[in-house]
Amino acid sequence: MIAARLYYQDAYLRQFTARVVERSPDGCRLRLDRTAFYPTSGGQPHDKGSIAGVAVLEVIEEEDDVVHVTAEPVLETEVECSIDWPRRFDHMQQHTGQHLLSAVLHGMFGWNTVGFHLGAAASTIDLDAGQASPEQLRAAEQRANELVFENRPVTIYFEPAAEAQGLRKASEREGLLRVVTIEGLDRSACGGTHVRTTAEIGPVLIRKCERVRSNVRLEFLCGLRAVRRARADFEALSRIALGLSASLDEAPALVESQRRALIASEKALTKARVELARRRGVELYQTAEEQAGGMRSYVHRIAEGALDEEVRALAQGFASGPRAVFLAVSENPPSVLLAASADSGLHAGQILKEALAAAGGRGGGSAQLAQGSVPGAAELERVLANLRAGLTRA
Ligand SMILES: [Zn+2]
Repeated sequence: MIAARLYYQDAYLRQFTARVVERSPDGCRLRLDRTAFYPTSGGQPHDKGSIAGVAVLEVIEEEDDVVHVTAEPVLETEVECSIDWPRRFDHMQQHTGQHLLSAVLHGMFGWNTVGFHLGAAASTIDLDAGQASPEQLRAAEQRANELVFENRPVTIYFEPAAEAQGLRKASEREGLLRVVTIEGLDRSACGGTHVRTTAEIGPVLIRKCERVRSNVRLEFLCGLRAVRRARADFEALSRIALGLSASLDEAPALVESQRRALIASEKALTKARVELARRRGVELYQTAEEQAGGMRSYVHRIAEGALDEEVRALAQGFASGPRAVFLAVSENPPSVLLAASADSGLHAGQILKEALAAAGGRGGGSAQLAQGSVPGAAELERVLANLRAGLTRA
């Protein structure tokens, strides 16, 4: 015996009695002679509620029948059943909202709905559209809401598949089709639960739109979901506006101008730091002791950090003096930088390249400035030993 699906005739039925016709050995999987519980199917999640006072965790479609999974064993044969109404009504709003939006998008732009998912937070429609512009989405959203205000009846009829005319999407089913009609707008074959007029869908809000493979995926919310989302958006935007002492409407432009100002000041700061480093390099040269042969050298060693623009400026400042050689070393990431003045008789690029090659590192550069890196700490020490040897030879 297969359960009669009460929601086919009356989606508003919240309480009903039924007879248990099959029970699993543990008493937690039940088949009933009649049910108003909607099983997960067609993109719509299952209902929750209770059977004989026991919570229903899941409702599954199985071999054309409906299986109810309960939290505890149900041992009675005649059972009182109750549907979790706020959850079901929310699903009815989102689902009917999908019919409405799919019809509007098809009517306005010729896009076909090729997929639907009713999610816990938001729902999505997949469309066979090349792309959807913000203007098109705004227009579709407005039209959908106008149709909500028109309070159009949503009706259900069973029709022989062979005779069903004017369906938005041809059905592959045979026998009797369950046809859901939005008056003057849409006819679709569907086994889901729907509200009785478009007004009950409540506000329709289109949100994210993204490409998924060859389709466009549109996120939307109906009813209280749309209201709650709009409230959350308002509160988020309010926090941003409050921090800027601006109005909500001014906030996006203000955030953008502050972002540009921040980028400009970061650039200016970097420029100042680089100039400061170059001057420190000149000072270091001036205070460095002259060695045998009139050379001045300096080793700049850091435990952490990249040998960046600032370190290069420091090196170049030092090597701007006559007969100068400057070595910078970072332990993490393990790397070296060598700078030499033009009159030093040293080719920084060649010396560094040889020292790196012998230690398994990579890098090089010009006669005046060269940089390179090695895989680890041990290699770094080998490079430094090679460099000392190389510089002494030169
Ligand atoms: Zn439907």
